[in-house]
Amino acid sequence: MEKVKFDNKVLSVLEDKIQLIKTQKGAIYLVGPIKLPVNLYGETVEFNWYCWLNCDEVTEDFERIIDKLSSANLAELQQSSVLAYGDFEYSDDAIIRMHSICHSGDIFGSKRCDCGYQLKQSMKMIVEHGNGALFYLANHEGRGIGLFSKAMAYILQENDYDTVEANQALGFVDDARNYDDAIMVLKALRRKPVTLMTNNPKKLEALKKAGLPLTGREALWGDVSEYNEKYLETKINRSGHIREGSNRNDFS
Ligand SMILES: [Zn+2]
Repeated sequence: MEKVKFDNKVLSVLEDKIQLIKTQKGAIYLVGPIKLPVNLYGETVEFNWYCWLNCDEVTEDFERIIDKLSSANLAELQQSSVLAYGDFEYSDDAIIRMHSICHSGDIFGSKRCDCGYQLKQSMKMIVEHGNGALFYLANHEGRGIGLFSKAMAYILQENDYDTVEANQALGFVDDARNYDDAIMVLKALRRKPVTLMTNNPKKLEALKKAGLPLTGREALWGDVSEYNEKYLETKINRSGHIREGSNRNDFS
């Protein structure tokens, strides 16, 4: 493919908005912030949107990055996002959510899980808190097994398997999610510790182990219905999620 020549304005505008984060495998390119007004329960709220991409190549030559990335077939791959709110970089106590993408729950509003509810609710809690960030993790579909495999797992669940059994029957570990990149992006955006919105102690442990500076946990239950009762029970009984009522655990 022929190399596109970008004009200087394009380069200077984008250069300021693309950050290189070096990783063990290569680099993360973080683009943003971009002002993103969002309709949140009928109110318009302005978030700062960032998006990131992993790349083997580490280069400070931004023309080369823009050229390479704009010609890559990125629509075939999902990219992860951050929606930051308020003074996320410097505020003393920010709350964050590491949200695993859920195509059926977030986009279609599926009642088979509580993801769509948790997504909106965590955005609301961030706004009410005054500052924080939602990390929308695009390679976490179906706890990291992908959308097609999740569809197959749902078929098994319609045939008496629970969430954990279904994933295992398809040859997957119960939870294949990795938070390393998200933590690196978080550290590029903020140095101070954060409070994590989650019901999942394993996630809390994983993030602590990966070096995330944490001050506490905030629970995020809700939207229980006949369609996801069994799914939520499995989360508690099989995956060790903390039941509602044990709202805030401090462990600093
Ligand atoms: Zn879901």
